[in-house]
Order: sequence, then C-alpha cells, then structure tokens
Amino acid sequence: MFIDINDIGEGSLEFDQTLTLTRVRDDNPDLLEPPNVRVRGTITAGPTRGRPAEGASLDGRLEGPLRLRCCRCLEPFEQPVEAEFHLTLRSEAPEVEDPDHRIDTSETGFFEIEEGQVELDAVATEQVFLNLPQKPLCSGSCAGLCPTCGINRNRLECDCREETVDPRLQALRRIRDEMDPPRGRKRSRNES
Ligand SMILES: [Zn+2]
Ligand SMILES: [Zn+2]
Repeated sequence: MFIDINDIGEGSLEFDQTLTLTRVRDDNPDLLEPPNVRVRGTITAGPTRGRPAEGASLDGRLEGPLRLRCCRCLEPFEQPVEAEFHLTLRSEAPEVEDPDHRIDTSETGFFEIEEGQVELDAVATEQVFLNLPQKPLCSGSCAGLCPTCGINRNRLECDCREETVDPRLQALRRIRDEMDPPRGRKRSRNES
C-alpha cells in the first residue's frame, strides 16, 4: 500500500489500513506468522512548495497481535503490539544501498521515501521490528523446559531433580560412608 504525498497538496491525509507484513516474518524466526496489523494516522504535507517530500510528517498508530514462540518453553503465544510514532518523511539519499539503512534512520525519527511514495507496509514493518521483544516469553513466570528430559514444566512435572547438594549434607554423607562404607560392607563383616 503506497500513499503519494504529492496528492496531499498543502493539507493532510488520513489513512487506516490493515496490512499483513510478510517481510518482518522472514527476518525474525521468533515470529510464527506474518503479523496482521492495523495502521492508521495522518500524513501532513511539508512547508516546502514543490518538494512536498521534504518535511512532510507522518503521525501513526499501529496495533495488532504478534504470534511468537516463547524462548523458554518454545510454545507459541500471542502478544499484542501497540505503537505510536511520529516520523519525518524525507527523500531517500541517493548513496543509500544498504537495506538496513531504513531501520536505522527511523530510530532517529526519519523515514526515507522515494519519489513521494510512502510505503505503508514498510512503515508498519519497521514499527513491528522496533517493538519486537528481545526475548519473547509466554509469561514472566514461564517455567521452561526440563534440561534433562525436555518436558514443558508449565504443564507437566517430571522426576528429574537437578542435584542440589547441600554442603552440610555432603559432609554427613562422607562421615557415614567412612564409618560404614557402602561398598564391601558385607565382605568386611564376614572377614572379621
Ligand atoms: Zn513459555
Ligand atoms: Zn525432567
């Protein structure tokens, strides 16, 4: 979905679109499905006549569910994304070849456009990127997977106990073993 800011003239234009963002899915394995988001807002033309791309701005709001995989238990879960943003639109610098450059520039509040065309999918994709959790968690208290048997400890219990040895207990155990060695106990008794 493209919006041509040359059509805005000196006023502003409102938009309200639901988009399926396939690019953000390709770049992020934690996202299980291309997010389906609603993006709406206003594009206001810039003050410079004849070159509307310079100084035009976009105020937007993005919302929608993200389907993610929990990094602890690996189960899919849904997390809503909500973002409000203000971007200054500017013509793409001709030397820009790096596809990641767009992401970097938007962090400073700029969004680069070509020939006055605002690609709403690119705007929304960028906002999703910026709002993706670093470590997706189905819940803050997710118990994760058992490192020994691999079951999901949110749903099942297993008997694998990570050996947490109390040092005091270990000392007692050593004394007991010295007094009554676990191996060869019977034999030594027979010998005496
Ligand atoms: Zn989890
Ligand atoms: Zn286990």
